[in-house]
Parts: sequence; structure tokens; C-alpha cells
Amino acid sequence: MHHFAYRNGTLFCENAPLDGIARELGTPAYVYSDATIRRHYAVLADAFEGVPLLIAYAVKANGNLGVIATLAALGAGADVVSGGELERAIAAGVPGGRIVFSGVGKTRAEIDLALKHRIKQFNVESRPELERLSQAAQAMGVRAPVALRVNPHIEAGGHAHISTGSAEHKFGVAWHEAEDLYALAGRLPGLDPCGVAVHIGSQITRIAPMREAFTKVVSLARSLNAKGFSITRVDFGGGLAIPYAPDDEPDSPAAYARMAREVLGDLDVELILEPGRMIMGNAGVLISRVEYVKERDGRTFVVVDAGMNDLIRPALYGAYHEILPVRAPEKGAVLKAVDVVGPICESTDRFAKNRPMPPLKEGDLVAFMSAGAYGASLASQYNARPTVAEVLVRGDACAVVRRRPTFDEMIALESAPDWIELG
Ligand SMILES: *Cc1c(COP(=O)(O)O)cnc(C)c1O
Repeated sequence: MHHFAYRNGTLFCENAPLDGIARELGTPAYVYSDATIRRHYAVLADAFEGVPLLIAYAVKANGNLGVIATLAALGAGADVVSGGELERAIAAGVPGGRIVFSGVGKTRAEIDLALKHRIKQFNVESRPELERLSQAAQAMGVRAPVALRVNPHIEAGGHAHISTGSAEHKFGVAWHEAEDLYALAGRLPGLDPCGVAVHIGSQITRIAPMREAFTKVVSLARSLNAKGFSITRVDFGGGLAIPYAPDDEPDSPAAYARMAREVLGDLDVELILEPGRMIMGNAGVLISRVEYVKERDGRTFVVVDAGMNDLIRPALYGAYHEILPVRAPEKGAVLKAVDVVGPICESTDRFAKNRPMPPLKEGDLVAFMSAGAYGASLASQYNARPTVAEVLVRGDACAVVRRRPTFDEMIALESAPDWIELG
């Protein structure tokens, strides 16, 4: 469910027409719906009513300050994977006590920063990381709350590039070594092993593999408690899929929650979830203007002003995004198969191939749907294009939550070596 719909022939975000936003701000631009973000958060929170729960929003899905702040105000925490994301979450108002730190490559500086902010939990991914965290905590005279991220050796069934839970992947500690590593964490100074964590991938459309993973996590937690540990939380990660195409029907958040509650049973723990895509995916669109319609060799290329640097998912994963004209097509409009491409000098800069589209002409606006997650956060300045702008809509109010940088700002961090005199 989302709040993007046609009204009187124009595509709106809540009560704001997208063509008005494009006129004011220019294109390309991401447009996010506040009501959709809040709805997705509520769907998950409500489904777990009665369970002690922290929804630690996965900042990497969309790290915009306005987005994180919106979620923080609802009571969300943050799942971060770098010092930069940690500082972003803090700046957006997430208290340290609601921040979980994931990732296989935490540097000492990042660990120190997280300890300083007294974060809720380190999701540790290896033995050397345990040792590094122990040293850092000892040096600071604090105890670091630790969950081990276990690799349950499960095929999540999603796209190969975004599944993370089998042995060939770099993520997590081996299932068969987990108990030994908890014993080590119990002996090392400065560590409080208090949680078990898992995250098996992203865009997982069926809950069966998740059930398998969560069952392993819960049985590990029970076994550790029987050995005298005090496991007070389990972290089931993120990964819930969203519909991208009109006929996609991933298993629902409600079914996911039913399953998770069933697997938890009477285990007395706080549940941590790390949803990213499920919150933001369908809460955002990328609007773009048609620059040219180019006919060549019997093909039609619709060249738009958004590129793979603004939305890389199609180029990176062959991902599908629905593309809607902002002005609704006339009744009976004949669809024609076209390639929708960007201006970047790469052949993978193509959003759709042979996609049946209503007639489009120079100057028309289109919206790439379901682009709120892994859109802006993966954007770059490739081809020296200004980082895409972002707008948050609430009702008919629009806030520019990231403005486009000027060319001067983009160049400002660079300089020619001092042995060259710029003319
Ligand atoms: C990416 C990631 C998430 C979020 O995944 P979604 O599929 O966006 O829900 C959660 N936890 C970890 C550790 C991640 O790497």
C-alpha cells in the first residue's frame, strides 16, 4: 500500500501533484510519502503487538536525514553499517540506545564511535571482530552488548547478489562455531554476549527460508541460556520483500509476523527487526523528464534525464521498476514497446527494454515507482552529475530534504596538484 495515485489525470504523492514538484525543483528527483512511511512502520509494529520490539530501520536502504528523523519520531531505532550511518542516525534523533551496528568490516575508529554513543548492540560477524571489540571496550572502560550474527547456511531464494545467508557468503559466523564463540565472548573482558542475530538476504518473497533461519536462532538462544548465558534479545534482521510489479505477491508482513511469533514461542526476549526495503521501497518514486524520443533501427529509445547514477537497481540487479507517465494516458491509448534509457555513457544505463508504454514525447514526466529503497542511497555523481534531489511530502506540504549540489560544491573537495598551474 502506498499514497501515489492518479487524480484528475495527474499522478499525486499524497496531496501533492508530481508535475508541480518537478516544475519547482527540477528533475530527476526522488519524492517520498510521509504517510506511506508511517503506514509501513505501523503495519509491522501492530503485527507484533504484545511482543517487546525494537524496529531498527536499516539506514542503508535510504539514509536521508528527513527519512530517518520521520522514523525516529515514531520510535524506530536504526541498523547501521558504518560510522557515517551511525552519525546520520544520531543527527536524525535516534538515541544511541536504539542503534544496532551490523557489518563485516567495522574499523576500530567506528567501534570507538559506537561505544562512545552507547549503542544498543554490536552484531559481531567474526572472531577477530570479537577480539577487537573487547580491546576497544576495555580501553574505554565499558561493556559492549554483543549479538553474534550467525550464518544459518540457508538459501533465501532471492536474487543472488542480495542473499547473504549461505556458507559462501562473507556474512556471519559459522553455525557450528557459534557456541564456541559465545564461550569466547563470555571470557573476553568488556563484552556482554546478550543476543543472537541473523539476516539472510533482501527481497525474500517467501517466509519459509526465514522460518528455517529464525528457528535456528531461537534454538541457539535456548541452548545458550541453558549453558548459563543470559540471552535477552534476538535479532531477525530485515529482508521482507515488497511488490515491484503489479502482479507481484510476496508473502505479507502479517504472515511474516505470525510466523515469527510462532517461532519465538515462550522465549523471553526482546525482538529486534531490521527492515529497510519494506519500510521505504514503496514509499518513494523517482521522477524524471523525457529529453528525447529517438527512433533507430526499428527501436524506440525514450531518453530520460535520470540515469543509472540516480537509480542503479536495474543496471546492478536487472531489477524491474514500474514506469508510469505522470500525466495519465488517454483512454484507449495504444501501448508501444520502447527502451527507456538514461543519458549515462554506459550500455547498462537502461531502465526498461521492450516495455509497452503509452505514447511519450519530449518534455513529458515519468515516475519510476517503488524507488524509495536502495535508490537515492546508491546514487553517485558518475558522469559528474549532481547528486539527485530528494523531497518528502506530507499531505500537500513538500520539504526538500536534500537539495542538488552546485557544480562548484561538487568540485570543491578536489584540487589540482600544486605542481600544475591552472590557467
Ligand atoms: C541490508 C540489511 C538489512 C535490510 O534489508 P532489507 O531487505 O532492506 O530489509 C537489515 N540488516 C542487515 C544486516 C542488512 O545488511
